[in-house]
Amino acid sequence: MDIGIVGAGIAGLYAALLLRREGHKVTIFEASHRVGGRIYTHRFPSLFEDEDVYYEAGAMRIPRSSLHLRFYQFIRYLNTHVSRQKKLELIPYILEHQNNDFFVRGQKVRLSESDQIKDLDLPENFRGKSARALLAEVITPWIQMLNDDFDKGFEKILEYDEISFRQYLRLVCEWPHVVIDFVELMASQTNQYDLSFAEIIVQNLDFDTKEWTTIRGGMSRLPEAAASLLDRTNLHLNTPITGITELDDGRISLRSFGNPGDSTIFDKVILAIPPAALHNIDDRPLWPFMKQQSIRAAHFEPLYKIGLHFRTRFWEHGARPSFGGQSMTDLRIRWIVYPSNDLGGDGSGVLLLYSWMTDASRWQSIPRKQRVELALDDLQTFFADSSVNIRDQFIAAHDVMWSCENATGDAMFLPGQFSRFGHVAKLQEGNVYFAGEHLSRHHTWMAGAIDSALETVASLLGRQDMAGLGEEYIRPKEGARDEGTVNLCRSISYVIPPHNNLQYVEEAK
Ligand SMILES: Cc1cc2nc3c(=O)[nH]c(=O)nc-3n(C[C@H](O)[C@H](O)[C@H](O)COP(=O)(O)OP(=O)(O)OC[C@H]3O[C@@H](n4cnc5c(N)ncnc54)[C@H](O)[C@@H]3O)c2cc1C
Repeated sequence: MDIGIVGAGIAGLYAALLLRREGHKVTIFEASHRVGGRIYTHRFPSLFEDEDVYYEAGAMRIPRSSLHLRFYQFIRYLNTHVSRQKKLELIPYILEHQNNDFFVRGQKVRLSESDQIKDLDLPENFRGKSARALLAEVITPWIQMLNDDFDKGFEKILEYDEISFRQYLRLVCEWPHVVIDFVELMASQTNQYDLSFAEIIVQNLDFDTKEWTTIRGGMSRLPEAAASLLDRTNLHLNTPITGITELDDGRISLRSFGNPGDSTIFDKVILAIPPAALHNIDDRPLWPFMKQQSIRAAHFEPLYKIGLHFRTRFWEHGARPSFGGQSMTDLRIRWIVYPSNDLGGDGSGVLLLYSWMTDASRWQSIPRKQRVELALDDLQTFFADSSVNIRDQFIAAHDVMWSCENATGDAMFLPGQFSRFGHVAKLQEGNVYFAGEHLSRHHTWMAGAIDSALETVASLLGRQDMAGLGEEYIRPKEGARDEGTVNLCRSISYVIPPHNNLQYVEEAK
């Protein structure tokens, strides 16, 4: 078959490689000048020879958990097929370091000691417990349920899909508002608890993982490696699709911006683009009412990242050095992420400031120059107890306001949206298929985009037993199981080695 794919994010690239493996012809159209979409490593000019100075403006870390198994399998697939220069090396990502801090209401305490922060007006029976401990009392049974069996656990959490996590804490757990606000401030970002109960539980499941990884040299190396396996003449960058037409014989014609007369016809098409991008293609078939609603209404959470390049890695040199992990604050910058790459290096370094939801959208109305100034001011306040002069250290800034990009952020559904849109948004319309992170049960993760791409290609080819990319190398040994189908693999776990450069993965006991 001749298949057109719109979008060269990880969902589009994964679908393309999968279809190519199955012997089909694929053509990809990408609006931007680069592949990767929300996977985006920004490099700063280096100060010293051989220094590679970067930060992750998009995806940056992957939990070493079976929910992300297909991501690791994909790395294995790429490493088996790409040239030596393109091979990917996974290195540990440090989610939390012992010297990371909370800085709230002008007081600095360790992450495990949020109960030490004074002046919070918590009711007597909620005092003396950290925000984490309070949250754990509520979510641990749900996390346990998902860990035992994700499919069954997800069904169970959907019973509360119509309410937000905040409403659950208020109405079911009977927490006072002040306690909810305290826990949200310390453990999440502003107004995130107004999102669907299911989203917040699944998010906590991911962050419950102890070990994490990232890609040495930057996450963008992943989509670049994937693109290197595709025929470059069939990968069209700077080519936004602006028109989709269903022909009388069922085939699909795609038109691109700047080339309205020039359309290309395909047997089938996969739209691997976020709903906001699809919403902007007005020249397309009018799909059923609830499908249209899902494209219009699926809620995406704003995200804001700013990378600040400093002369030294001063955060690794103080009295309480942070080697990776992140500190949290009630200042505008919210999360300070210390890099996990080049730990202990004596060159320059990049600090990442990261915010979500209302904390992210608050940056939107501020002109860029002022954003950088505010970020530096907040950092100086945070590091006031050290001798660091932030402005002396500062070299350059780069930021991405993801709410202003075509994806508008990451999918984080409002209460009821899993029930309203979860199924209908994925349904094919004639020979038009849909893929992307927002169509999985695992929003905000690359693994979700991969799961969705595999499901979509399996449905397009009518092959429910399709193995994902790289899964072929870790099929159960002969005789261990009948066959390694997609469904069967859900119940099999594998050891993911610390470095994924090994050719094979051992099967777990
Ligand atoms: C700030 C941030 C941090 C994140 N952190 C992590 C993390 O640590 N770990 C993790 O696993 N995930 C993380 N994610 C999520 C992860 O990046 C996404 O889930 C995933 O990359 C989405 O892939 P996708 O292919 O579905 O969509 P996208 O990456 O959005 O790809 C869609 C592509 O379609 C293109 N496009 C749009 N419209 C058109 C058009 N009309 N014609 C042609 N092309 C078009 C876009 O340019 C884009 O390249 C993060 C995301 C963000 C934004």
